[in-house]
Amino acid sequence: MSAVTLEEVDQQIRKGFRLLRFKPKIESLFLQDYTANRVRLAPIWAVVGTLIYDLVYFGDRTMMANVFSQLVMVRFGIFTPFALFSVLALRRWPSALNYDLLAISVAVLGVSLPMSIAMHSGSPYLFVYQNGNVAAFLFFVIALRPRFVTILIGLALMCAVQFTTTKLSGAFDDVVYTGIITFYVTLTIFLILSAYFTEHKDRLNFLNQLRGSLLHVQLEQKSERDELTGLFNRHSLERVRSSIWQENSGVASVAAIMLDIDRFKLFNDVHGHMEGDDCIRAVCQCISREIAGSGTAFRFGGEEVLILLPNTDDRAAFAIAEKTRVAIENLGIRHRGLEEGQVITASLGIACGQVSQRPLEDLLRTADAALYEAKRHGRNIVFPSQRQSAEL
Ligand code: GH3
Ligand code: MG
Ligand code: MG
Repeated sequence: MSAVTLEEVDQQIRKGFRLLRFKPKIESLFLQDYTANRVRLAPIWAVVGTLIYDLVYFGDRTMMANVFSQLVMVRFGIFTPFALFSVLALRRWPSALNYDLLAISVAVLGVSLPMSIAMHSGSPYLFVYQNGNVAAFLFFVIALRPRFVTILIGLALMCAVQFTTTKLSGAFDDVVYTGIITFYVTLTIFLILSAYFTEHKDRLNFLNQLRGSLLHVQLEQKSERDELTGLFNRHSLERVRSSIWQENSGVASVAAIMLDIDRFKLFNDVHGHMEGDDCIRAVCQCISREIAGSGTAFRFGGEEVLILLPNTDDRAAFAIAEKTRVAIENLGIRHRGLEEGQVITASLGIACGQVSQRPLEDLLRTADAALYEAKRHGRNIVFPSQRQSAEL
């Protein structure tokens, strides 16, 4: 799946997400974030939730003495192992769907297990006991915080269990039963509304965060790139220098090629600045294509480009420079300021050296001098520095 763009995120913010769903690409990122967050918190909630749940053991002893052993069985024999299994299962198969399914299961089991036993107890404390399920409702919505649809389904199931077991217990007359239903329905409506607004806010926060990080990347790229050509700008040379000219950079030698378009002032005069800009852009794109995989190009000045080729020796640098020179000539950009049929060409100067022995400034000075020689020797040629020239 391709990366999400800043425009897509802005569009999503403008369009809204009343149904709590983003466009597929953004939704998939949101679910990744949601899953990572929930899986991270799952062990904490499992421990806290299970501890509180198991502490009701003391309530079971006093209020539900005649079904005490069954209650101990469901608390320690079914619920606790299931909660621990959920955490392990999430670690093994982390996904938003698995989290939501396990959250529902924990919540529904949490209410139904003790209620299905307590309803047969005939205990006079059943009313107090079933009121305790409010804690399970709150734990499900506020602590586990699954997605909104999961909360809807979970609360509906929890209410169904609560109402059925309360009714089947036969312990309450119609007035009390209606009161219990009214209370839980009100609680559920309140929780549903709060879950909707919470998820809406979570999603908005997510979009704003995503927007912030995309903006940051874009700004970083912009500050490093030249707007006209898309090449790296001179400012970014510092970063490249510090990464190459440092210990353990893995770069032993570097070749620097300084390139300058020939007779470009005249081109501007005859063709105009706009066409001049198009020409610089086309030449720079051509350079990028030719050096792809071998090095990095920087727009060094107006129509001057610096190419840095790590771990490249004199011979290889000369070959790349010559290939680039030919490719620029073959672009066939007419130069009407020159004789009939003449096209845009460039001159190139090369300097090579060991990183440990030659600082960047030294290499640039040598490459610049070589470029000057290339111009002096008639342009549209590659000129190696004098030492290298003798070697080649
Ligand atoms: P030479 O062969 O000796 O290099 O001759 P030249 O005319 O190309 O001389 P020089 O390299 O000094 O000229 C650079 C010209 O490039 C001067 C300026 O008008 C032009 N230039 C610099 N930046 C830009 C730009 O961004 N757009 C356009 N259209 N022209 C530019
Ligand atoms: Mg020039
Ligand atoms: Mg120039």
